Amino acid sequence: MAVEAKDVAVIGGGFAGLAAGVALSARGYRVAILEGKPALGGRAYSFLDEETGDQVDNGQHVLMGCYRETLAFLDRIGRRDRLIVHRNLEIEMLDGPGRRAQIKTARLPGPLHMSGALLAYGHLTIGERIRVMTGGMRLMVMRRRDAARLKRMSVAELMELLGQGARARQCFWYPIAIATLNDDPELASAYLFAEVLKRAFFSRRIDSAFVYSKVGLSELYCDAARDFIERAGGVVATRAIVEGLDFAADSTVSALRLRDGSRLSAANYIAAVPPRQLLKLLPEAAVADPFFARIGALQSSPIVCVHAWFDREITRSAFVGFIGTQTQWMFNKRRIFEQHGERHPGYLSFVISGARMLVDRSNDELLELVIGDLRAMVPAACNAKLVKAIVLKEKHATMAPDPLSDRSRPPAITPIGNLFLAGDWIQTGLPATIESAVIAAGAAASAIVARAGDG
Ligand SMILES: Cc1cc2nc3c(=O)[nH]c(=O)nc-3n(C[C@H](O)[C@H](O)[C@H](O)COP(=O)(O)OP(=O)(O)OC[C@H]3O[C@@H](n4cnc5c(N)ncnc54)[C@H](O)[C@@H]3O)c2cc1C
Repeated sequence: MAVEAKDVAVIGGGFAGLAAGVALSARGYRVAILEGKPALGGRAYSFLDEETGDQVDNGQHVLMGCYRETLAFLDRIGRRDRLIVHRNLEIEMLDGPGRRAQIKTARLPGPLHMSGALLAYGHLTIGERIRVMTGGMRLMVMRRRDAARLKRMSVAELMELLGQGARARQCFWYPIAIATLNDDPELASAYLFAEVLKRAFFSRRIDSAFVYSKVGLSELYCDAARDFIERAGGVVATRAIVEGLDFAADSTVSALRLRDGSRLSAANYIAAVPPRQLLKLLPEAAVADPFFARIGALQSSPIVCVHAWFDREITRSAFVGFIGTQTQWMFNKRRIFEQHGERHPGYLSFVISGARMLVDRSNDELLELVIGDLRAMVPAACNAKLVKAIVLKEKHATMAPDPLSDRSRPPAITPIGNLFLAGDWIQTGLPATIESAVIAAGAAASAIVARAGDG
């Protein structure tokens, strides 16, 4: 088959690969997505648990109103209606058995809406609330004037600089930092934290709204993205493991080598795979190039998720933050999913981000830890019978957000003329999130369009 200038081969069928494929298909390109696993979705997928009849996400994913590129991608594939979009930020935080307080934005234009949320936050004293507010404002000034300094600091060092005490950190700053950066505040970059805060909390009111899927993650985007690409004449193949790249005499990529022995040629290539997998695809000479060599410095950070079914519904809240326990968030899947199995009335998902110290524990130990935290925080849970649980560990859930890893992130355009990169770990100025993956996908797609002179 002749390769045409508008043929693009994309390695990886997660958010980044599919978003790049959809963006290019919309511009008239014929795209081949090659996904190594039996199903699309990468690190954001779901499966049906036959025993309970429930969909299970690999881990609860939360989007925010500021995920503009992700929302546009879901719009384009006709799946935005599968999202629950809160009109305001409203988070219930538990600081001990039944001791709840809300972070609830005021009905004011952004960013004033956040001052309302902070001033009414009951887990802090009035003095602490005011210090959190002024700390946030100082941080936004630093972000504009001294980004270089923020890039060298951890979140914990930043808190010291902003004079934030232990309670303010524990009850406000760190739950947000760990959830959005997926790492210990002692390690995570202050710069990335400032970027998250700016986009989510110091912008429009709608930007700070919580958004999540009311269907399993795979159903949210995988099939619809596949249909979109196939309708435009492309192909989406699973169990298509790419083992390496072949190079032409002019040092551009000439073909992809697949494990089944076949080769696929295209005019342009996008590697939408995580960093370690990318390095395995490249020949030694390319890995030695400083552009690719620095990717080796990128570290990853794990997430542990526990899905648990009970003989009754334990809470009516859709999600609750836990303060002071190892378990950080509890999501009530009965309130979140629009369809569910009828067998067990209670279905909760628990998240532990930045779980470096826990990820090597056994599933039984992790389950015991999470259920212990639940019972300590929600006394009603002590009467509920645990019927079934699934523990999922994602050892390489996201790129670690430490300052060195952040500096080692490459852009989408590589020194190899027809090879582009996408994925949450590409330098987008954001931590490794779905939004970062979709932004990087857009950058790779735009670079291909520009290269072809179609821009
Ligand atoms: C438990 C968990 C919770 C999370 N929570 C959130 C959240 O709340 N909000 C948020 O925004 N983000 C969250 N994230 C991060 C989010 O899931 C990722 O940022 C996003 O899914 C990354 O997409 P990607 O396409 O860049 O990479 P991936 O999803 O990793 O996709 C890469 C794909 O490439 C394939 N591949 C790799 N090598 C090859 C090869 N050689 N040949 C063919 N295919 C190959 C892989 O199988 C994979 O499907 C979470 C992640 C996890 C794990």
